[in-house]
Amino acid sequence: MADFKKNLALLEAACKNPRAQMDKYLAQGKKVVGCFAPYAPAELVHASGMIPMGLWGGQTELKLAKSYLPAFACPIMQANMEFGLNGTYEGMSAVLIPAMCDTLRCMTQNWRFGVPQIQMVPIVYPQNRQSSASIDYLISEFEQVLVVLATSTGQMMKERLLCETIELYNAHNAVMREFAAIANKHLDVITPVVRHTIIKSAHFYEKSEHLAIMRELISGLNELPEYDFKGKRVLLTGITCEPDELLSILSENEIAVVGDDLAHESRQYRTDTPLTGGGGLKRLAMQWKNRSGCSLIHELGKPRGAMLANLCRETGADGVINCLMKFCDPEEYDLPYLEQDLRDAGFPCMTLEVDPLNTSYEQARTRLQSFAELL
Ligand code: SF4
Repeated sequence: MADFKKNLALLEAACKNPRAQMDKYLAQGKKVVGCFAPYAPAELVHASGMIPMGLWGGQTELKLAKSYLPAFACPIMQANMEFGLNGTYEGMSAVLIPAMCDTLRCMTQNWRFGVPQIQMVPIVYPQNRQSSASIDYLISEFEQVLVVLATSTGQMMKERLLCETIELYNAHNAVMREFAAIANKHLDVITPVVRHTIIKSAHFYEKSEHLAIMRELISGLNELPEYDFKGKRVLLTGITCEPDELLSILSENEIAVVGDDLAHESRQYRTDTPLTGGGGLKRLAMQWKNRSGCSLIHELGKPRGAMLANLCRETGADGVINCLMKFCDPEEYDLPYLEQDLRDAGFPCMTLEVDPLNTSYEQARTRLQSFAELL
């Protein structure tokens, strides 16, 4: 328990104050690169000897961002723009912006003009992944990112370091999946807020550091007696489910989170990079080709609903909460398909609009109370 508590406290501190975490790395003489949600190629940053930090918005009052983004841009990008403009990200060497949706495409240009002191590196992922040209194209995108990163580090990334990084990231993926499985045996201590904090914290750590903390945390968790949770169990799907006030409503209603498909959380860790099949860049491109079940990836047949139904069966979840990020078009397009597929499979699904910039959760509280009664 001591190891669990000690390591949880470390991860909580990083989530509460990511800026302090960034300052720690800067004080060590390391360079930090911001990685925009959700698929910035963090491995290239790590292999270049820099620290990738996830930029997934946060709670703030919008003042400056309103001059750059329309009111209907999603809250994650509104907050990222505000933090860029108000100096919260000062000290970053660059930001990587994957142009996955219309809002992210606009962000590349807004950032270029609004925050010129932090270099912006765009990357466009191919959506026609069946074409063999998509691998060559994505490799060329990665190479362009590396050229810009080299202007910060003064040298090009080495293939050997990329291969080591890929192995490290795969090991980290495995440990995060292990945590997600073990957490369900300890739903007394792994509340929805604690589960979210532990998974989110990975965005603010150098990967080997986070891997070591997670291994200790899991071994501390394994020492605890298993807990027979009597409440309802749900899966979360969507982009993110924040802030903690929203997740606390689940605990109030005796609902545990037993799995997730959030882009912010488990979606990050479910697809490993192949260990064979070519050089590091080619294998990273193959990882993109192997991803599935995400609203940001074009896929015929929309397999996300069926995938969630299978995850419900595996985890014993009673239903699914679709955390619909406010103004997120890609998630809205997925919604009718995944709700229908879940209902056909016999799993209740509720869609809850998520706005991390919101400060009042009374409507969400009422809806979640009703959903808890239906489960
Ligand atoms: S995918 Fe959705 S949440 Fe992510 S940047 Fe685009 S609109 Fe925002």
